[in-house]
Amino acid sequence: MSSSQTYRSTRSEVPESKSFEYAVIRGLAKDGGLFVPSQIPHVPSDFLTSWSNLSFQELAFNVMRLYISKDEVSDSDLKELISRSYSKFRSADITPLVRIDSKNNLHLLELFHGPTYAFKDVALQFLGNLFEYFLAKRNSKKSANDPSRDHITVVGATSGDTGSAAIYGLRNKKDVSVFILYPTGRVSPLQEQQMTTVQDKNIHTLSVKGTFDDCQSLVKQVFNDVDFNNKHHIGAVNSINWARILAQITYYFHGYFQLVRKLPESERKDLKVKFVVPSGNFGDILAGYYAEQMGLPVEKLVVATNENDILNRFLRTGTYDKAPVKATYSPAMDICVSSNFERFLWYMVRDTVAKKDDNKAGSILSSFMSELSKEGVFKVSPETLKLAQCLLASGSVTDEETVSTIRSTYQETSNNYILDPHSAVGITTAEKTIAEDGEESGINYISLSTAHPAKFSDVVNKALGDIKGYSFENDVLPEELEKLASLPKKIREIGKPELSVVEEAIEEELSSE
Ligand SMILES: *Cc1c(COP(=O)(O)O)cnc(C)c1O
Repeated sequence: MSSSQTYRSTRSEVPESKSFEYAVIRGLAKDGGLFVPSQIPHVPSDFLTSWSNLSFQELAFNVMRLYISKDEVSDSDLKELISRSYSKFRSADITPLVRIDSKNNLHLLELFHGPTYAFKDVALQFLGNLFEYFLAKRNSKKSANDPSRDHITVVGATSGDTGSAAIYGLRNKKDVSVFILYPTGRVSPLQEQQMTTVQDKNIHTLSVKGTFDDCQSLVKQVFNDVDFNNKHHIGAVNSINWARILAQITYYFHGYFQLVRKLPESERKDLKVKFVVPSGNFGDILAGYYAEQMGLPVEKLVVATNENDILNRFLRTGTYDKAPVKATYSPAMDICVSSNFERFLWYMVRDTVAKKDDNKAGSILSSFMSELSKEGVFKVSPETLKLAQCLLASGSVTDEETVSTIRSTYQETSNNYILDPHSAVGITTAEKTIAEDGEESGINYISLSTAHPAKFSDVVNKALGDIKGYSFENDVLPEELEKLASLPKKIREIGKPELSVVEEAIEEELSSE
């Protein structure tokens, strides 16, 4: 199967077979849909034993091989890409599993050991190398100054956390330039330091006088400016890119096998595992759906949201209803619609009302999405909702609960474990799920940890600041991040949130690269 893996759009009403490279470089399909693999591949029937002792990188290779044709990326190239992508992680396990011993059977899969201390590194380190790989292939016969070289100009907006992961994934990549827009004074000092202290020539941080919404709207306008886009080949690295989902599938397998290895022999048989995932754009948990469909025995995927709970409401009612975004203590999950949910929904529709017909599913999804953009709401059939509920459970968590979980976890674990607010949304939901299932259910819970607490000092200090013996500097802040404060910054200020000002800045910076 791997030699013929192709991709289609979730909104296409006709058969499509795009290459992996096309899906990765384009990001979004022409019809506005997202790329999905033409088939979800299966793991080998003996994978529970044959994969059980593999390293993260070896698992990544086995998983990705099933989704990328060998004539696009050879075995040796894929191994090399994976090896480079995970060479800058601070943990030998890449995504280590640790126990939260205040509860029975509760584990945390730490996804924040990459260069920027964010879970997005797991995918963006790989995506950056892939971009460079495909561009190098296209440019292999062209000299360094050949004006016809393929070049991508990545333009993105960030409210703080994603920008630095994108920058570290793409820094110093040949034939790629990066522009990250962020609202002046509205990202934390640490986040700004992480983005602006990267001195590589191809990285440009634009501090925009305006809000995050202004930044996002500017990025959209740049994309929609056809002439500008044709001239500079604007690319995106946001979480709808298929390669990001693909890279995230690995840690579901890796988390599962780490758990198996920790358990006594007697508990390994008939193992039941629920994964709890702090969710925003639904990319992280979607990777869990693919792992499950590939054959990983997953009891349930639990969507954990903050008060921006469109997913939680959908799973209770079948109505997907856009609501205004609220600012919460877990800002990376503050969304009004979850862009990757479209992929999951495509499968739910295809396997119910569309009766396994891909094209019919595309036509139904296409009308859902146009209802969503016109009316701000759509509703699925009871059958489709029921299938979604078989696979997913959900819970929504308030800011007060987030703070109280950070505090109780610190106080009740033997190692005074410190959660970041996003991971705390996961742990709160895991604890509620454990209470519903009963402490003696025998189920194991793996909650995903998406950021290092140092990145969200305000909330962590609010939760722990008055506890005797706790110190942010000693207990939380890594030396590497502390040092950033003294490094020189490279910032270009955008005085007005206007398209012409941004485009002028991009062209000026590009010509001086
Ligand atoms: C992006 C992000 C999330 C949400 O992940 P999705 O894939 O968008 O659901 C959660 N926590 C942190 C810290 C993040 O950066």
